[in-house]
Amino acid sequence: MAKKVMLVGAGGVAGVAAAKMCQNPGTFGELLIASRTESRCLAIKTDIEKRVAAGVGAWSAAGKNATSISTAQIDAMDVARLTALIKDFGPDLVMNIALPYQDLAIMEACLAAGVSYLDTANYEPPDEAHFEYSWQWAYRERFERSGLTAILGCGFDPGVTQVFSAYAQKHHFDTIETLDILDCNGGDHGYPFATNFNPEINIREVAAKGSYWVDDPTGDKPEVAVETRKAFAKGWWVETAPMAIKREYDFEEVGRKDMYLLHHEELESLGCNLKGIKRIRFFMTFGQSYLTHLKCLENVGLTRIDPVDFKGQKIVPIEFLKALLPDPATLGPRTKGKTNIGCIFHGLKDGQTADYYLYNICDHEECYAEVGSQAISYTTGVPAMIGAKMFLEGHWRLPGVHTCEEFDPDPFMSELPVQGLPWRESFNPVRVP
Ligand code: NDP
Repeated sequence: MAKKVMLVGAGGVAGVAAAKMCQNPGTFGELLIASRTESRCLAIKTDIEKRVAAGVGAWSAAGKNATSISTAQIDAMDVARLTALIKDFGPDLVMNIALPYQDLAIMEACLAAGVSYLDTANYEPPDEAHFEYSWQWAYRERFERSGLTAILGCGFDPGVTQVFSAYAQKHHFDTIETLDILDCNGGDHGYPFATNFNPEINIREVAAKGSYWVDDPTGDKPEVAVETRKAFAKGWWVETAPMAIKREYDFEEVGRKDMYLLHHEELESLGCNLKGIKRIRFFMTFGQSYLTHLKCLENVGLTRIDPVDFKGQKIVPIEFLKALLPDPATLGPRTKGKTNIGCIFHGLKDGQTADYYLYNICDHEECYAEVGSQAISYTTGVPAMIGAKMFLEGHWRLPGVHTCEEFDPDPFMSELPVQGLPWRESFNPVRVP
């Protein structure tokens, strides 16, 4: 029976998640889009209703018993108002596709209203460019006791990368020893500098120190600028200066790209959940123009997150920079090229060493034609919708707070190609040195 979902946020990713829900009206009967600026919720609703009426391609089945969409204004930081709105609408699930700053407030409101929760990025305090799961893992007992499920980080990375890891673990390895997550965006939007998702979150992520996870701090000799090694869970973090580790990789259908080691949230949970794992790294591709602009913005102080005085007013430079940069939701019509995101595993199967690469290639222009967005929002919004579908259909329902690798990957893997993100595999990939 079709269910009710409340979506918080109305940016690029939320627009795709809403569109994909409406392509699956058998699962998603009613959708409330609630965000800080209601006009953006209404713009999403109007766009979807036009596509449903046209009924072209992936929208062909959307018109039959079409999903009904309503909208509301909400500041998600106002837990009392948000709780009242959730209770009033009575959804089966709340999807948080606003920003990481709102995670804890929305989790509180879900507990107060007795509704399960899903998000696409882990909590980050506004005044500290630092993200980790500890804040949200602190809610484990409360969700468990309430019989509610919280699914964390259900986009592509984090999200699908963890589903890929669970699938590789289940079907292709006895032990995964190393995992490299490779995120390549070969798209070109024609601007000298723009970010493909929320600029503030994106710049905070890439300007942060790099880090990777190892099980033994003495066994792995880091190559550059190591600043600290912090113990975490059963392993250790090796921290590096930002962008200090660079590799080159030849990505299928994109070509050769420079990629840089970054800290990324899923390393933290995968370090706990992949048995036998010895090292996990995350690499993202960046072009030279992006890096030069970023360095310059950093050098002049425009990426600072602390308030500064300006003509008697306090402004946060990175928030001002966000106001100057193109809105990622407007990049769709300009972006050409493809993304290629995946995981390279190395380990043991039946006493033999084994290699396995699972990845998805996604075309910016095809995404735009289907839902009016570029591939970064698409590759995040589609998995968010599939995660919600997994919950609503009962495949991913487990009281407590969980990351995506903790659930059965098979039903999710079956949905990916059906919903627009076909995956490919290779048993003989080139490994990253
Ligand atoms: P956008 O900045 O485009 O959209 C964010 C939306 O949240 C906006 O509509 C904004 O409202 C709304 N919002 C912000 N603050 C509040 C608030 N206090 N109350 C209610 N609504 C609020 O971001 P994206 O769509 O690009 O990204 C959405 C999320 O997805 C982010 O958390 C991002 O980190 C995550 N992400 C995850 C990825 C993954 O692979 N896992 C990849 C890419 C993104 P307003 O319109 O008023 O500004």
